[in-house]
Amino acid sequence: MSIIGLGPAAGEDMREQVEQLVEKVTPDVVAWRRDFHTHPELSNREERTSRIVAEQLQAMGADEVRTGVARHGVVALVRGKKPGPTVALRADMDALPIQEETGLPFASQNARVMHACGHDAHTAVLLGTAKVLVELRDRMRGSVKLLFQPAEEGPPAGEEGGARLMIKDGALDNPPVTAIFGLHINPELETGKISYRAGGMMAAVDRIRMVVTGKQSHGGMPWQGVDPVVASAHIITALQAIPSRHIDARQPVVVSIGVVRAEGAWNIIPEQVELLGTVRTHDPEVRRQVAEQFHRIVHQTAAAHGTKAEIVYGDYGPVLWNDPELTERAVQSLGQALGRENVVEAKPLMGGEDFAHYALKVPGSFFFLGVRNEKLGAVHALHTPKMVLDEAALPVGVRAMATLALDFLATAPQSK
Ligand SMILES: [Zn+2]
Repeated sequence: MSIIGLGPAAGEDMREQVEQLVEKVTPDVVAWRRDFHTHPELSNREERTSRIVAEQLQAMGADEVRTGVARHGVVALVRGKKPGPTVALRADMDALPIQEETGLPFASQNARVMHACGHDAHTAVLLGTAKVLVELRDRMRGSVKLLFQPAEEGPPAGEEGGARLMIKDGALDNPPVTAIFGLHINPELETGKISYRAGGMMAAVDRIRMVVTGKQSHGGMPWQGVDPVVASAHIITALQAIPSRHIDARQPVVVSIGVVRAEGAWNIIPEQVELLGTVRTHDPEVRRQVAEQFHRIVHQTAAAHGTKAEIVYGDYGPVLWNDPELTERAVQSLGQALGRENVVEAKPLMGGEDFAHYALKVPGSFFFLGVRNEKLGAVHALHTPKMVLDEAALPVGVRAMATLALDFLATAPQSK
């Protein structure tokens, strides 16, 4: 008997039933995922995906299906027969502006839009999980809330969206959510495996825009102006002293500039240079220190060259913090469901994930689902045009999500 299992007598029996239901639902999950893959939609434009998600939830008999949450989000409830807390499971639905080059028979039919981050799989896995849970609700205590979220990759400029807007639109309320789980596919991890991490798992993300202003001049007579291009070159180089010289070397920090835009000409020094970049950290105090150094270096380097710099230092998302106690419980559940050897610890990543917003509000735990299979060529990185995943991972995802929810509810204190 395990304190984490589903209780002494019911446990094994329930696990077997989950297993059978996962097997039954797998063809649907594969079909949904391929359909979403063929028809990807960009952030905050997930109209078709969201409509199909809502239709399928209604068809399988989910208890409440709310649409139009955070624009195209869908929130549904599977209510157990006995009273208890509510646990949430979240999937993201949006695709990326990438031209697909996988050659798959169900490749994207939308030019320059591709599910290159696997959100098609996340959505299909959560639909499959919903179907399993609906079948088991007579034996379930409490409720499972399913969050189908738009715009994880970030809404278009000037629009709100993603996890922040889901929370604002009440996705975690009524009934209030006690804990939340989510997963992301990972092409670096073998199919069949899941990886976890207690504490900081993915980076806090700052999104930065700078404008360095000088005075335009003839390229042949720079002394008549103030050159913002040379100043920007010094700024870009000087910023790399933040991770290497100013921050404790044992702390992960990345400072990157990805856009340098100077609209001069070969013989014209422009008035302004625009720089776009990002800072990634894992610790709130380090994040504060980096921001302070960043401002000092940019302003003073700009001043040293006679230019002026403006900085918009935007908070794009907090560190994804996995609640250590919830993660410990989840690891035991997953170990029982998938085999202990298939549940491994993940290294901290410098990518961001907006699941972090939910995990700031309620205890959360996020996992990576292995989709790597060299025989199938499922080895390419996320956000690249050749990214494919091993579909054998889909039922693993459903088993993991269903088990996490059921075990959480089965072991929650009775009083709630
Ligand atoms: Zn993603």
